[in-house]
Amino acid sequence: MRYFSRSHKWGQRLRPPDIYEYYVDNFWFNTVDGESQKVNEPLRGSHKADVVIVGGGYTGLSAAYNVQNKFPEKKIVLLEGAHCGYGASGRNGGFCIATSLLDWDQTDPVLRQQSLEVSTYGIEFIKRMISEHGVDCDFSEKGMLNVALNNKQIKSLELYSNQLKSFGLESTFLQGKDLDAEIKSPLFVAGLYNPHGTTLNPAKLAFEMKRVVEEIGVEVIERSVVTRISPGKVNLVDTEFGDIRAPILIIALNAYVNKLGFFKNRVFPVSVHQIVTEPLSEAQWDSIGWQNRAGLSDMRTMYSYTIPTTDGRILMGGSDFVYYNNDALHSGNDKTVTRRIKDNLFEFFPQLKGLKIANAWGGTTAYTLGRIPSVGVIGDYRNIYYAVGFSEGVPSTQTAGRIIADLMAGEKNQFTDHFIVNRKIPYAGPARLRGIFGWGIKWIMENLDYSPIH
Ligand SMILES: Cc1cc2nc3c(=O)[nH]c(=O)nc-3n(C[C@H](O)[C@H](O)[C@H](O)COP(=O)(O)OP(=O)(O)OC[C@H]3O[C@@H](n4cnc5c(N)ncnc54)[C@H](O)[C@@H]3O)c2cc1C
Repeated sequence: MRYFSRSHKWGQRLRPPDIYEYYVDNFWFNTVDGESQKVNEPLRGSHKADVVIVGGGYTGLSAAYNVQNKFPEKKIVLLEGAHCGYGASGRNGGFCIATSLLDWDQTDPVLRQQSLEVSTYGIEFIKRMISEHGVDCDFSEKGMLNVALNNKQIKSLELYSNQLKSFGLESTFLQGKDLDAEIKSPLFVAGLYNPHGTTLNPAKLAFEMKRVVEEIGVEVIERSVVTRISPGKVNLVDTEFGDIRAPILIIALNAYVNKLGFFKNRVFPVSVHQIVTEPLSEAQWDSIGWQNRAGLSDMRTMYSYTIPTTDGRILMGGSDFVYYNNDALHSGNDKTVTRRIKDNLFEFFPQLKGLKIANAWGGTTAYTLGRIPSVGVIGDYRNIYYAVGFSEGVPSTQTAGRIIADLMAGEKNQFTDHFIVNRKIPYAGPARLRGIFGWGIKWIMENLDYSPIH
C-alpha cells in the first residue's frame, strides 16, 4: 500500500481553504463556556520536539494523553489548524457505540473477549477522563434504542440482538405498547433497547481533553495549519508561520489526511449533517414520550440518529453521508441535506410540527471502503504513527490513541494485536470517479447482506 503520495504535493504547500472547511453553525460550540474556548497562539519560528502530533481531535488528544503518560520525559507538541475539536470531534452526534471495534467474525472465545475489551475501552477511557480529570461532557449512560421502520429492518434488529448476545451483551426487543412507552412515532414498528450505548456533548469532551493534556505537560499549539509534512529520520512539519522537527510523528487527521498526501485514494472525506431544534415544552416532550431519553438510531441510511440534549432540544443527524466530487470539502452547511433532515424529523414526530430549528451544520468524517479504520505505523524509518478512517469514532478514536502509545512502547497485547492495527486500507478508485465507485459499493452494502446497524 502506498501511504504517501509524493507526486501529489512534493514541494507544494497547501493553504487552509484547501485543507478544511470554514466555520459552521455548530450548536455544540455554543454550549462550551468562554474559558474553554480560549485558542492558543500559533507556531512561529523553528522548533524541535520528541513527538509531534498533527490534529487536535479525539485521536490526537487521546494519543497525546496516552503517549505522554507512557513517556513522561518526552516533549510532545500537538499542532491543530484551528482549535482542538474544530473538526468532527467537536461537531458530531455524540453517540458512543460500545461495539464499533468488535471483531464480529472472531470465533475463538479468548480472542472474542479481548476484542470486546478493546471495543469498550473508548467508553471506559471517557469515563476515566470524567472521574480522574473532572471532564464535564454531559455524559449520559441511558443506552440506545435502535428503531425499525419496516419488517426488513425488524429482521436486522433480530440479527443484531443475536450478534450482541454472542458477545454477552443483552438487549431488549420492543414492540407495541412497550415501544410506545419508550417513544411515540407513527413510523416506528419495533425497537431494540441496548444499554451499552452512551451519549455526550462532543465539543465539551474535546475542549476538556485539551485542558487535560495540557495539565499533564503536552504543548498544544492551535491556529497552526500544517501545510507540508516531509517524512525522514527526523520528520519536518511546516506550518503557515513556522516549522517543527521531530523523530516521531503522529498523524491524527482522519478525514483530512489525504489533503497532506497520506492515504490518497484510500481514505476520503464525506460529510454528515445535523440539525438541532429549539427547546421543547413539557407538553411537546409528553407528546413524543421518550421518558428514558435513550439515544435513537434508525436504519433508513447507514447514518441516522436522534438524541435529546441536556437543555431539552432534539438533535437529529445523518440523513446520509454526502460525498462531494474529487474529495472536496464543504462549507459545513449543505442546505439541501439539512432540509431533508428537518423533513425526516417531522415525519418521525408529526406531533412536533411548528417546532423551530435553531442550528444546522455539517462536518467531515472519513470513509474507507468497508468502513473499517486503520491504526499503525508507516514510513521508511517506521516513525510515523497514524489513525485514520473512523467514519464513526467518538469512542473508537479514544482507543486509537491508546493503540498508538502501546505500539510506540513496543508492547504486544490485545490492543496492538487488534485487527485494525496496520490494516491495509482498500483502494477506493481515482478521486474523479469516486462518486460512481462509492455509490456502487454503498448500494451493495445497503441492499445485499449488510445490515446498517451501528
Ligand atoms: C456531523 C458528524 C456527526 C458524527 N456523529 C458521530 C456519532 O454520533 N458517533 C460517532 O461515533 N461518530 C460520529 N461522527 C464521527 C466522529 O466525529 C469522528 O470519527 C471522530 O471525531 C474523528 O476524530 P479525529 O480526531 O480522528 O478527527 P477530527 O476530529 O476530524 O480531527 C482532525 C483535526 O485535524 C485538524 N486539521 C485538519 N487539517 C489540518 C492541518 N493541515 N493542519 C493542522 N490541523 C489540521 C482539524 O481542524 C481537526 O480538528 C460524526 C462526524 C460528523 C462530522
